[in-house]
Amino acid sequence: MFDLHSHSTYSDGLLTPQRLVARAAERGVTVLALTDHDETGGLEAAHAAAREAGIELVSGVEISVTWHDHTLHVVGLQIDPCSPQLAAGLAQVRSGRSERAERIAAGLEQAGIAGSLEGARAHATNPELVGRTHFARYLIERGHARDTQGVFKKYLTGGKPGHVPHQWASMEQAVNWIRASGGMPVLAHPGRYKMDNARREVMLENFRDLGGVGVEVVTGSHTREQFALWGRYARRFGFLASAGSDYHGPGESYRDLGALPDLPQGCMPVWSQF
Ligand code: AMP
Ligand code: MN
Ligand code: MN
Ligand code: MN
Repeated sequence: MFDLHSHSTYSDGLLTPQRLVARAAERGVTVLALTDHDETGGLEAAHAAAREAGIELVSGVEISVTWHDHTLHVVGLQIDPCSPQLAAGLAQVRSGRSERAERIAAGLEQAGIAGSLEGARAHATNPELVGRTHFARYLIERGHARDTQGVFKKYLTGGKPGHVPHQWASMEQAVNWIRASGGMPVLAHPGRYKMDNARREVMLENFRDLGGVGVEVVTGSHTREQFALWGRYARRFGFLASAGSDYHGPGESYRDLGALPDLPQGCMPVWSQF
């Protein structure tokens, strides 16, 4: 059983790499990819834990990308975290996060919520990787919203006080860094991006022209209809199909590790190239 998208405490997951891998093994996952946001620091511990648990660990990363006015995520699978290009690229992406966190906190301050920078930092294990999920945990802790979905909707998405514009990596950079490290670039959770069909097709063509090889067809945030839809897009555009839960921790994710349906008929799995 393959689960090729997950997060640990090295980014915005709740479980250490060790506990994440142990949970995946318990739940019957045989091949797990750790894909922390803009960060590969958890891979070494994850590999050690996977050897112990007798499962296979795929080195991965999830890179934040700005494409036109959209934020997209590009997963790299079977990357080499020691690749100098990849390491330098990710360091550059992470370096923008501190200043962004300050701007998010300033926005929340204007909405009457004090102390969110310190609050978010207290929820982040990796000081270079303070993100919206950490702000979300603080806001829930302080009673500003009941759950993750609610807090994002009320405070952390477009037009809300804790949402700030930010320039991430370009799609070209993300694909090039992944490929330079020997990895496969896969477009993450495409059903989450709010755009019309024409725009989607441009996104898929751009990604393919730059060297992208796969799209996530089965992911925790897709509906059953989206599994079928993105299976059709994958076939039409010649992409390999990936599957991953995008697990962040108990109580915070749509799907648990390994709780994934099969890829739709006719999809070529990305793991056929492993
Ligand atoms: P950031 O990279 O700091 O913008 O944070 C992005 C992360 O926030 C994603 O990887 C998810 O973990 C989380 N996230 C974004 N939107 C939502 C949402 N609507 N509900 C729950 N979590 C979300
Ligand atoms: Mn996340
Ligand atoms: Mn993502
Ligand atoms: Mn993710």
